[in-house]
Amino acid sequence: SSVFANLARAPEDPILGVTVAFNKDPSPSKLNLGVGAYRTEEGKPLVLNVVRQAEKLLVNDISRNKEYIPIVGLADFNKLSAKLILGANSPAIQENRVATVQCLSGTGSLRVGAEFLARHYHQRTVYITQPTWGNHPKVFALAGLSVKTYRYYDPTTRGLNFLGLLEDLGSAPSGAIVLLHACAHNPTGVDPTPAQWEQIRQLIRSKGLLPFFDSAYQGFASGSLDRDAEPVRMFVADGGECLVAQSYAKNLGLYGERVGALSIVCKAADVASRVESQLKLVIRPMYSSPPIHGASIVATILKDRNMYHQWTIELKEMADRIISMRQQLFNALKSRGTPGDWSHIIKQIGMFTFTGLNSKQVAFMTKEYHIYMTSDGRISMAGLSSRTVPHLADAIHAAVT
Ligand code: PMP
Repeated sequence: SSVFANLARAPEDPILGVTVAFNKDPSPSKLNLGVGAYRTEEGKPLVLNVVRQAEKLLVNDISRNKEYIPIVGLADFNKLSAKLILGANSPAIQENRVATVQCLSGTGSLRVGAEFLARHYHQRTVYITQPTWGNHPKVFALAGLSVKTYRYYDPTTRGLNFLGLLEDLGSAPSGAIVLLHACAHNPTGVDPTPAQWEQIRQLIRSKGLLPFFDSAYQGFASGSLDRDAEPVRMFVADGGECLVAQSYAKNLGLYGERVGALSIVCKAADVASRVESQLKLVIRPMYSSPPIHGASIVATILKDRNMYHQWTIELKEMADRIISMRQQLFNALKSRGTPGDWSHIIKQIGMFTFTGLNSKQVAFMTKEYHIYMTSDGRISMAGLSSRTVPHLADAIHAAVT
């Protein structure tokens, strides 16, 4: 018999498992609102034109090869990524005190950051929002950090529990790591206002907490890359330290290319250079060096004025389509007279709406309407289209009446 004969079957991933169940459903009207991947009006995955253009340039350039790239990734990509999130005129970049390494998308950037902190930072507790993206607690716990939560979402207002947040971070031990969603909080779609961010910043700095930004949706929330980066830039502007994990999965549609970056903003150039040297020791035994293709696409686009401009236009189109889906769903529920206040659908930001539907209602919608979503009632607005909004509105109406 097998040496693995006694192995227990692991459960499906709570988010990716939604797609597994969706794929098994033969219904022609089925709808997958589980996974946070952008879809066109026609319900199809989208490769941005600017990405196709960059790939053509790369393929036609016969001077290019497939050699290993450095442990820290492509130098151009790293510089341009730091500039994208911190701003072109960031003093931190000009003063050479940012260590940036190319990582495997947002998840890999978080993990490398977590592994680095577990080895080299004196405080081993990280605070994450309640609720948060399901992978966060696992990424940090498996890196060896102790994971605690801070209050974030208020189900009664379907908005921010700001007082709870301030209270919980206010009683966190000095030096604790605080994970912050840079914009478009997943799964709630609820972000602090600029004034609230400022208060959060003051609290974090006055208590000597260490901010770790997860930036998975830059440009996707508002349609503007600069606007969505404001919270991060606010923290860097005060001269203090922070970590930032960037993903190009959503904003460039490079999901499967696994391209992202971890930046550690330090107070001095010599510290940043020592940080980078230690990041290499974290990365080398995990996967040696990152893949070349996705980072080359990103660097090609970020380097070229015209391509960068075209990207901002295509990005805005995606963001606008999502915002229009919010309005259409809200209108559809209103016209059906669906009981309840659904204004959170248009107030929330980014890819997801945290509907407030409970797991029983979600199960009902899946069974009766073949609509798939995570059991916490989160729906991906990017998976909706004008054609499918009425079906979803019918399902929500039936679930709550
Ligand atoms: N953080 C958050 C909050 C996310 O929603 C996601 C994607 N669902 C990620 C990080 C990382 O995604 P990826 O590894 O595909 O870049």
